[in-house]
Amino acid sequence: MTVWGVREHHRFEAAGKPFVYLVPSAAIFELDEAADTVLQTLRERPRTREELTAALAGSDTVSDPVAALDAALAELARVQAIAEVNAPVAPTPKVIPLAPFPLTTMVLNVTNQCNLSCEYCYEYGEDKIVDTENGRQPKFMSEQTARDSVDFMLRESGDNKVAHVTFFGGETLLNFPVLQKTIAYARQRGAELGKQVDFSLTTNGTLLKPDVIEFLAENQVGVTISIDGPKEVQDKFRVFHNGTGSYDVVAPKIKELLKRHRSRPIGARVTLTSGKMDVKRIFRHLTEEIGFWEVGFAPVTTAPGRGHAIPDRGYDEMLAQFRDLADEFLEASVQNRHHGFSNVKETLEELHKGVSKAFPCGAGLGLLGVATDGDVALCHRFAGSDAHKLGTVGGGIDRDAQRAFLESHHIANKTDCSRCWARPLCSGGCYHEAHTRYGETIHPNLHYCDWIRGWTDVCLKVYGELAVRNPAFLAQFDDASMKEPVS
Ligand code: SF4
Ligand code: SF4
Repeated sequence: MTVWGVREHHRFEAAGKPFVYLVPSAAIFELDEAADTVLQTLRERPRTREELTAALAGSDTVSDPVAALDAALAELARVQAIAEVNAPVAPTPKVIPLAPFPLTTMVLNVTNQCNLSCEYCYEYGEDKIVDTENGRQPKFMSEQTARDSVDFMLRESGDNKVAHVTFFGGETLLNFPVLQKTIAYARQRGAELGKQVDFSLTTNGTLLKPDVIEFLAENQVGVTISIDGPKEVQDKFRVFHNGTGSYDVVAPKIKELLKRHRSRPIGARVTLTSGKMDVKRIFRHLTEEIGFWEVGFAPVTTAPGRGHAIPDRGYDEMLAQFRDLADEFLEASVQNRHHGFSNVKETLEELHKGVSKAFPCGAGLGLLGVATDGDVALCHRFAGSDAHKLGTVGGGIDRDAQRAFLESHHIANKTDCSRCWARPLCSGGCYHEAHTRYGETIHPNLHYCDWIRGWTDVCLKVYGELAVRNPAFLAQFDDASMKEPVS
């Protein structure tokens, strides 16, 4: 006798219809009533065909329970939402990407110095990994190291036709001369090798002088500004070394940048801290009053108990506000209007593409960070840390170290995550967050699971609504190549 049981899934409703997100395949399906009833019944416990027929017979809208059950079982089994209980389930293979895995994004820390002194900064604050002030690394990357880094990037990018270089700091623009020369060199070397090089940078906005803006616009450099919101929010933590707030310095400069640099959308990146959680107000200010095209939010990375750390209840508040903004995003997208809440858009793209991650991000894989001395590390946040070093730009990637890292950090090793329906997108979360919170990169970020699952559920509902009300919106993700976000 065949007994059916469910496989891992997450049910949600959107546009008045039931949907299911299937964990093994990271696929999303709309359910008809019979399939939904079968799935709901099986969630209680495994059932025989006769029991399922009886469950369907109780439904007002199913006229032929036997035919409806046949169709539902066939469909649910096809998409792997259910399986025969005694049928062997193949274990998910632990696939480690074959080295050499091509590098897609190199984050170049052109300086570890900063002209601001943000209290929550992971590079300078209480949670820093690398001693950037007194360490052995140079304060600024030299022109030669930057050139070597470009050569390293082009070499390690394999057959990829496009290489992404992101300039980072400290405050990136403190080393503007090297940044300028690096772009010119990378363009020339890329052209010689038949590769296109895409450039972006992150800056605090304080050094956006007219000649800098001109250069960024002319060279089509993607720009992300780290800014926290209106004056009283920005000036709480984002201060100069003498304690003065930075809002009055950065706001006019950013407006100038937005006026002049029109070739690429300029985004804001907001760090949310305790007491600065008015997400909607921050979003309005940055989009409507300053003029950013898009705004992304991230909770501060910090050890618990710090003054700026978001307390556990703060995640619920943040989720409620994200949900409101996601609703606005949905209504705008249904009407084909732009809405700049980038967090939801990035997750929709991952859902649409059926992303199922073995690793939480590209760090150590397609993305690497380079310190000012040319040491290569997991990502920009670990650049300069010997414990997280994966080579040098001169000597190349240490493939043994890379392989050991990927082996140990694979989602298959994170037993806490093995029964979580959100793992295709989360995969344990940011290594840097884990290191700050638990002292080791391998630890899943269990302190924010409710938040991650809550947010994924919000995005699934937005996805389902759009799939019903404006499927053309989702088609934009069909061909778009995904770029590793750097924050
Ligand atoms: S860290 Fe938490 S939310 Fe993320 S996959 Fe693991 S259990 Fe799920
Ligand atoms: S998610 Fe974390 S570990 Fe991954 S690239 Fe970003 S900061 Fe680095």
